[in-house]
Amino acid sequence: MLKVENLYLYYWGEKGVVRAVDGVSLTVRAGEVVGIVGESGCGKSSLANAIVKNLPRNVARYEGRVIIDGNDVVSMELEDVRHSIRWKKISIVFQGAMNVLNPVVKVGYQIAEPLIVHENMKKEEAFKKVHEVMRLLGLPDYVFDRYPHELSGGMKQRVVIATALITNPKLLILDEPTSALDVSIQAQIMNLLKRLKRELNLSMIFITHDIALSSDICDRICVMYSGEIVEDGYADYLLPSPKHPYTQKLIAATPRLRSTTKPLYIPGSPPDLTSPPPGCRFHPRCEYAKEICKNVSPKRYVLDDGSVVKCWLYGEDYGEDSRA
Ligand code: SF4
Repeated sequence: MLKVENLYLYYWGEKGVVRAVDGVSLTVRAGEVVGIVGESGCGKSSLANAIVKNLPRNVARYEGRVIIDGNDVVSMELEDVRHSIRWKKISIVFQGAMNVLNPVVKVGYQIAEPLIVHENMKKEEAFKKVHEVMRLLGLPDYVFDRYPHELSGGMKQRVVIATALITNPKLLILDEPTSALDVSIQAQIMNLLKRLKRELNLSMIFITHDIALSSDICDRICVMYSGEIVEDGYADYLLPSPKHPYTQKLIAATPRLRSTTKPLYIPGSPPDLTSPPPGCRFHPRCEYAKEICKNVSPKRYVLDDGSVVKCWLYGEDYGEDSRA
């Protein structure tokens, strides 16, 4: 469905080059939900933008391959990406999407706009399709003629998802789709996304800082740290048995309803992406760090359960107490 190979996205920043996406590879299969999980500032949103070639002016490096339906988004002209990839094959629900709705345009027209503008569809036909998608998303018909400020947070989020789905994309990228919602509305949106996955066999990339939330919907989880994917595995294996020390810390930091153990904090703070630490970028915060970790970037090891881990612990080079 989607294959990302060695993708780089660097920006020019005030302190130098920001290495936001640093050699990321991942695959999304048809009907699969892949979670991208990591702390704020690790490059998750930059990865989403790199996949759809939504680049700011201060780009310092944009390289690699993003293959969908035989097209490589990275090497395509931007105009071609606009016309044949965005919304047609890949739609994105941006972080804080509730604020992207135009306050002076009725939401029905905003949902229909991609059909009218990108597909030259007649208004009547587009509006009919809007009502179909609104019903699919549990939005009552009267919402069509409402302005965004007249809707609740949950309804606005459904409208934004409707806008992303109106052109029947193959892949939906959701960047922190529930982070601005309270928990009960968050649960409603998560149930909606699970239903869409089931009924439409939709592929999704689900970006979140909350590994517990990702466990609710994701088939596979990619854990991102400092611009790199450090662990990629099936949720059924990764969540009960995380391999990378950073994934272990993320899971240990999650509060549990029925547990007597307290959540643990992750010591230190995420590295500055303009000057990440040499070797393994997690080494200043890792209790297992050895000399090799401080000097040489780890290889990627494929383990028996199919997961891929970027950590010296799983290779011979770590020493006698290697876990491999
Ligand atoms: Fe820790 Fe070394 Fe693995 Fe990095 S490579 S996570 S420092 S054990």
